[in-house]
Amino acid sequence: MTVFQSSCAYCGVGCGLTITSHSTPLSSESPQLDGTPAAFTLKGDQSHPANLGKLCAKGERLLESLVQPNTLRYPRLASGKVVQWDEATQLIAQKFAETRQQFGPDSVALYLSGQLLTEDYYVANKFAKGYLKTANVDTNSRLCMSSAVSAMQRAFGEDVVPGCYEDLEQAEVIVLIGANTAWTHPVLFQRILAAKKLTNAQLVVIDPIKTATAKQADLHLAIHPGADLSLFTGLLGYLADNNKLNHSYIAAHTEGFDEVIQPAQHLSSNLAALAKHAGLNLELLLQFYDLFASSTKVVTASCQGVNQSIIGTDCTNAIINCHLALGQIGQVGSGFFSLTGQPNAMGAEKLVV
Ligand code: SF4
Repeated sequence: MTVFQSSCAYCGVGCGLTITSHSTPLSSESPQLDGTPAAFTLKGDQSHPANLGKLCAKGERLLESLVQPNTLRYPRLASGKVVQWDEATQLIAQKFAETRQQFGPDSVALYLSGQLLTEDYYVANKFAKGYLKTANVDTNSRLCMSSAVSAMQRAFGEDVVPGCYEDLEQAEVIVLIGANTAWTHPVLFQRILAAKKLTNAQLVVIDPIKTATAKQADLHLAIHPGADLSLFTGLLGYLADNNKLNHSYIAAHTEGFDEVIQPAQHLSSNLAALAKHAGLNLELLLQFYDLFASSTKVVTASCQGVNQSIIGTDCTNAIINCHLALGQIGQVGSGFFSLTGQPNAMGAEKLVV
């Protein structure tokens, strides 16, 4: 019996797994899970900080997904013929060599997944840049996370998320924007709900759709698609209008604040118009703004509903600006949190870019 630790690669929570091989230990000769599902058992890793032993339905069925008839488990040619790894590797090498010879090194590219380990990205980058001599190596996490990354580089000077899962458990107010966390980050959402029961934290969900997440919210702001940037820019103006700014924090840790606050106060000068633009009634808008302004521990977490937009970077930046204005960032239970689509999106961004 062999016990080893791994992680679920389905979603950005990155839950830790404990896998037990009962009869067919993994070896370099059999790198795939060739045994029947009964040869392995899987459970959540109690010691892993992301999930503390919990798994969602997708993670619990990981082993089953590896032995489905339509799962690609062996190299297969375009003709459908299954071949050995040696033959497949030689064919790939031959195609790379022929293409490079005919069209030059930049005619080939590697496209990786945000599910890989950082070490895998390192090896792939070495292979692409050092051996194939091409800079064409990218991951699908660029599509997923580039808005958030660009906003954090703009706001902080580097791609760094100023928060962690524990902050979500210690916040007074949790704002989820563009994030159907109940479906996309199930174990984390269960953690949020469990913490909410203990702390009475208020859950605000900003989403045009009444998602499974929105149904559990204390406050659901069903804004018009694309109104997220105005909503948070107006919030910044509202904080200034109501003397909520943390001036000492702003003076010590920000620059260019005056340039940001002027357009924000222009928006907040007509909250009725702003509410109409966002598709909300004024009362609901004010309820959200008051809650945000009067709470000392707010975490705002965003996901693809914010990222996958031409104003995704600006919107994320607008959210961060509100936290900077209150000095609610980098403190226990408060700050901005970017929910990733994939478990190692950040590793990919760091190594590929
Ligand atoms: S929450 Fe995500 S990482 Fe965790 S078990 Fe479910 S799919 Fe896997």
